[in-house]
Amino acid sequence: MVNFPEPISQLIDGFMKLPGIGPKTAQRLAFHVLRMPDEDVLHLSQALVAVKKDLRYCRICCNITDVDPCTLCRDELRDHRVICVVQDPRDVAAMERTREYHGVYHVLHGAISPMEGIGPEDIRVKELLERMKNDLPKELILATNPTVEGEATAMFLTRLVKPLGVKVTRIARGLPMGGDLEYADELTLSQALEGRREI
Ligand SMILES: [Zn+2]
Repeated sequence: MVNFPEPISQLIDGFMKLPGIGPKTAQRLAFHVLRMPDEDVLHLSQALVAVKKDLRYCRICCNITDVDPCTLCRDELRDHRVICVVQDPRDVAAMERTREYHGVYHVLHGAISPMEGIGPEDIRVKELLERMKNDLPKELILATNPTVEGEATAMFLTRLVKPLGVKVTRIARGLPMGGDLEYADELTLSQALEGRREI
């Protein structure tokens, strides 16, 4: 690799830690930053620091938030007895974009994957159970991704919470198999939500 001045090499190394960024893209980005106005670079660097410093997990739904509990959990207009379980904070955003869902969420931060050695204890299952113990919801909507891992997680959760006497539903299969919830368009996602079935 070409020998760049240390600050540029550092920046290139930093970018290469991001997913999907190879050495060439990292170099392009680093040189782009060099040409950016000072205030834009300052803003970007502050946003990078703030995302780690100011964000935490909501003590109720485990979503990322800057206020705890998060604004969704605080919202009294929402139905707190319907909990939609998703894998990722980005799925919450996707569900919110549909404007069809008025319950609350639980973010697992992953899915069970024996292949990758990810078990129930590695995702936010314990928190979900704890939360349900305090206040049994009337419906738990399993909106994990339509992937092998997402299905396995949904099955695991069903077995776990069914004995508690909660109505458990799974969003419909209109979603493209193998896809992530966050990439589904609003219409497909609201139809999947609408067509959810009890399991
Ligand atoms: Zn919350």
